[in-house]
Amino acid sequence: MGRLFLVELEGKSYCCRHCKTDIALCDDVVSKSFQSRHGKAYLFSKVANVYAGKKEDRMMMTGMHTVVDIYCVKCGSYVGWRYVWGPDGNNYWVAQEVEAGDSDTDD
Ligand SMILES: [Zn+2]
Repeated sequence: MGRLFLVELEGKSYCCRHCKTDIALCDDVVSKSFQSRHGKAYLFSKVANVYAGKKEDRMMMTGMHTVVDIYCVKCGSYVGWRYVWGPDGNNYWVAQEVEAGDSDTDD
């Protein structure tokens, strides 16, 4: 019961700042210069190893959006949030509490 199912990502990835679990692939970065109210964040087209919190409407810099907060599946730390409806109809994941994995040296 409660066994963690962690996905191992192949290739360069970003990981949880706290427990180093893989969260997203570098290939899935949509933007590296996304600015949230709390500072710099990364925008991804998809992520792994997170679970979502409650859906809520939140006022962002780009207007009102329906979002859910996302948390690391391993350590439970806050990772960022997901747009339920993205700016152009896509679902985007915004990750703040991640860092480039060991294999990523270009940032
Ligand atoms: Zn973690």
